[in-house]
Amino acid sequence: MSKKITLLGSTGSIGTQSLDVIRAQGYEVYGLSAHSHVEKILQQIEEFHPKYVCMTDPDAAAKLDAALAGRANAPKLLTGPEGLKELAALDGPDVVLNSVVGIAGLGASLCAIESGHDLALANKESLVTGGHLVTQAVEKHGVQLLPVDSEHSAIFQCLQDKESAPSLTKILLTASGGPFFGMTTEQLRGKTRADALKHPNWNMGAKITIDSATLMNKGLELIEAVWLFGLPPEKIQIVVQRQSIVHSAVQFSDNSIIAQLGVPDMRIPIQYALTYPKRVPGVVPELDFTTLKLLTFDVADEKTFRCLAACKKAIRKGGLGPCAANGANEEAVKLFLEDKIGFLDIGRLVEAVVDSDSFGGDYTLADVYECDRMARAFVRAHL
Ligand code: NDP
Ligand code: MG
Repeated sequence: MSKKITLLGSTGSIGTQSLDVIRAQGYEVYGLSAHSHVEKILQQIEEFHPKYVCMTDPDAAAKLDAALAGRANAPKLLTGPEGLKELAALDGPDVVLNSVVGIAGLGASLCAIESGHDLALANKESLVTGGHLVTQAVEKHGVQLLPVDSEHSAIFQCLQDKESAPSLTKILLTASGGPFFGMTTEQLRGKTRADALKHPNWNMGAKITIDSATLMNKGLELIEAVWLFGLPPEKIQIVVQRQSIVHSAVQFSDNSIIAQLGVPDMRIPIQYALTYPKRVPGVVPELDFTTLKLLTFDVADEKTFRCLAACKKAIRKGGLGPCAANGANEEAVKLFLEDKIGFLDIGRLVEAVVDSDSFGGDYTLADVYECDRMARAFVRAHL
């Protein structure tokens, strides 16, 4: 059956892989969004003919507006962060897929849910910064929250047997370990932006690639898993699986473990979120067990990779702790990508922000944005 999709962040790594899935399944695109890549979104408009497009960066929006002027069947153009929320809320799609990067995706996630849309969520920062608000809105509006992150899709797939799901006792959240697995603090000290951008198994956007190198990504995913699956952080064990073949596993009360495996290709979890609860043939090749010789498992080194330790502290503190950790990380990664701070500074700054306050208690959306702003200011003041 054909589906209509609104895809937020369509020019990114997840966005373009989502369009591969949409193309292969013959789905219709209702809306697209990008931030700055005008040429790329123009190509996507030509191929997928969306009814609406949002460009969040104002200069890029003006360029896109000029490029679309006079075109027959041009999509309606929305602009800025408000335009992104408007696009997420529009009636029309069967599902909204949010693959924006960073806290910039939170408002759109909430608007999609509040408008009654099922939400396929790649933007883990929505749950990390506003998990309480997002999960409450999902409950209130009775929509589906479909994980796109490969580990969370794996866990979700392992929990489809409704009889055994309530007996879940533990989550085994797998991690590739990133490009610096096994290194000491001394070895990490001189790592550059180019070193950190070389991921062994996945080809992803720059921010999440750095997050994989620092293990911040696994910390964010631990928090994401707490919100999605309702287990406390101490029941979520991080397991390094260097080959990225076991995408995560769950353990039940009888100590039986069920895992999901496949080649490391995001188009499997993207497709599952879009076809759920059905499975259909897709574009990803099968895992070849005639050449797969080895699956290894290791313990994550949070003494060296401080971002992971900081995320654990943040989720234990509760309230806005995870939002503060995320804001500090977004700012620190931006500075690292601009060669303004060193690799180890990222963990140092995230940990310092988490240690700077108790963070507990309930919060509003305004509190989330204020906490994000303060965490970023803290980072800039402690370089
Ligand atoms: P990319 O950087 O490749 O893409 C990000 C997308 O968001 C682009 O379309 C970009 O537009 C848009 N964008 C950037 N800044 C803003 C902003 N301020 N407001 C609105 N839109 C913006 O990221 P990824 O695709 O790698 O990651 C997207 C999300 O998915 C992240 O949350 C990440 O953690 C998660 N994820 C990614 C995986 C991967 O394999 N890449 C795996 C699992 C989860 P433009 O291109 O025009 O700048
Ligand atoms: Mg992941």
